[in-house]
Amino acid sequence: MEFARVAVPVRLPGLFDYRLPAPVTDSASAERLPGRMCRVPFAGRELDGVIMEIVDRSDIPVEQVRTVLEIDEDLPSLPKSWRDLVRFVSDYYHEPLGEVVALALPAGWTARRKRWYAPRPLPSSSSPASNGAPRLTAEQQSACAQVPDAGYGATLLQGVTGSGKTEVYLSLIARTLAAGQQVLVLAPEINLAEQLHRAVSARLPQVDSRLVHSERAKGDIARAWLAALQGEAKVVVGTRLALFAPLSELGLIVVDEEHDASYKQQEGVRYHGRDMAVWRAHLLGIPIVLGSATPSMESYRHATSGRYRWARLPSRVLAPNLPRITCIDTRREQLDGGITPTLRAALEQRLARAEQSLVFLNRRGYAPVMHCRFCGWLADCRHCAAHLVFHASDRRLRCHHCGAVQSLPRACPDCGNQDLQLTGRGTQRLEAQLAALFPTARIVRVDRDSHRRPADWAATVRALERGEADLLVGTQMLAKGHDFPKLTLVGIVDADSALFAADFRGPERLFAQLMQVAGRAGRAHLPGEVMVQTGRPDHPLYAALLSQDYDLFAREELSHRQRAGLPPYSFQALLVADAPALDDVTDFLARAAESARRIASAAVMVYDPVPMRLARRAGRERAQLLIESEHRPALQGFLREWVTALHGQRLRRSGLRWRVDVDPLEF
Ligand code: ADP
Ligand code: ZN
Ligand code: ZN
Repeated sequence: MEFARVAVPVRLPGLFDYRLPAPVTDSASAERLPGRMCRVPFAGRELDGVIMEIVDRSDIPVEQVRTVLEIDEDLPSLPKSWRDLVRFVSDYYHEPLGEVVALALPAGWTARRKRWYAPRPLPSSSSPASNGAPRLTAEQQSACAQVPDAGYGATLLQGVTGSGKTEVYLSLIARTLAAGQQVLVLAPEINLAEQLHRAVSARLPQVDSRLVHSERAKGDIARAWLAALQGEAKVVVGTRLALFAPLSELGLIVVDEEHDASYKQQEGVRYHGRDMAVWRAHLLGIPIVLGSATPSMESYRHATSGRYRWARLPSRVLAPNLPRITCIDTRREQLDGGITPTLRAALEQRLARAEQSLVFLNRRGYAPVMHCRFCGWLADCRHCAAHLVFHASDRRLRCHHCGAVQSLPRACPDCGNQDLQLTGRGTQRLEAQLAALFPTARIVRVDRDSHRRPADWAATVRALERGEADLLVGTQMLAKGHDFPKLTLVGIVDADSALFAADFRGPERLFAQLMQVAGRAGRAHLPGEVMVQTGRPDHPLYAALLSQDYDLFAREELSHRQRAGLPPYSFQALLVADAPALDDVTDFLARAAESARRIASAAVMVYDPVPMRLARRAGRERAQLLIESEHRPALQGFLREWVTALHGQRLRRSGLRWRVDVDPLEF
């Protein structure tokens, strides 16, 4: 056999054929080569690719086939299961295989290996001694028992915060390791990945477990990949990029907070870490556990239809009582600094008792809108179709979409009025207002401005645990993870905006977010209380929230989605395009819609192109075209043909960019 089919990291579909430096004659060598890294000539450059297959003949004319420059025999080859995974991701998202491979391998995987390729003896044992594992409750035991020992099976583990899901994961991890296999654990965010990794290392100190996320040094990730490949690392914990860790003896996948939208990559190859993890488990024939207090509608539907197993942990382990949740009707109470008298009294009570409170507002900055009352001027971003947000810390206006920063105008640029108004409230303003209401309280604000690095968060957690704060103000950054034993009150300011968002997933996200924030209250021995300020206390979402009945909410939401023909009862794909000039975008999408209508069968619906919700970002006009079908295979078949046609289209030199987003979460 003479030819290698190579995945090359370029934005072109398909594999590229190269002649092997020397033909292989025996089948042992032919099997040894796929999965190896190689260096190939490509359009005047030299690139690192992965050999995907060895074949007898090439479809391209022999005289055009070039020769592989070098095959890397030092790095172990990437196993078939890994190659199957990247192929699947490439097929499903209709992205070039080479691009998926580039995404799946850490930067410098080949180039710098000489420096980090140093096999070291490790105390890693495969029969792990568990360190201080508690006796599982009956619920936890039966949840573990539902997860098969071997063979494919997806289990939805639905349990409120504090119900002991992490203990279930740890027990399943220990079981899998004892069987000599490896485990992959995914978390939606860096903080949560770190926390899970700490839990694994504390419980199984003898086991080589690796932490991977985008903030880790590239060399660490490359080393983790190598250790996973060689079977040295037994557990890999990480954010969505860990999906591609080439664990050669993978026996279990755990996806924590499976409903979290952060699992979906929003640029480049727009893959969903959870969905692809389910496929990886399926391709390998191994169990996967999806954990959440508020499962995604997609997973919930699979659980109710029997496609997934359904394990539930209905009660909390340590603080048996769920926090009490009440609504405060903002139409009936006078707000002062955004706070109702009822919430204010509750906060005062906590201060008097030396307990901690959390006030939640999912908007950072000081005020989201600055305007002139006389002429109607608004401080808008020059590059985006969006308002600038006033930040009090440095008295500047910032765009939350493109990052542009402007100094504060002294007067209205249009009419000269010096009295510009700040409307709306972000966490900075809320912090100032709370400081005015409670002058003696020690207030800590937690959002992306005050906590830029993981270390900032760690410092805040320590301060809170030492009781060095009375009041926490912050965005959803506060919602996840950590237990604060003295935190007994959660106040939610302005929940409604998400309720009326144009996105059909708005209510699902709001409910998950509120349950998650509510889960911060009263996790130890002190009972917790949650107060939601709303102008719509009669809304069905709040009714389900007050009774903390996720199933009630999910059933209603699913029946609404079914009636409206929305996911998970239909499947969507979005063609998104952007360019400096609107005409180029409109033109491209109009032609794309035309070709879509030619290709689409009756089972596939092609909508009209529309501007994106944020119609201009960073100086680029943005528009999209929605495709929908009730049948995933019909949508996939359509996309295969259509995307090929789109790749073949000749683009004018307009700086136009386009992408297909399969199962989009953002519109
Ligand atoms: P979740 O991941 O569902 O939020 P955790 O697994 O973190 O819940 O458990 C919540 C708390 O209960 C933790 O402090 C954990 O140590 C404790 N816990 C969980 N299971 C048990 C058990 N079987 N026995 C004693 N404590 C437990
Ligand atoms: Zn003005
Ligand atoms: Zn902007």
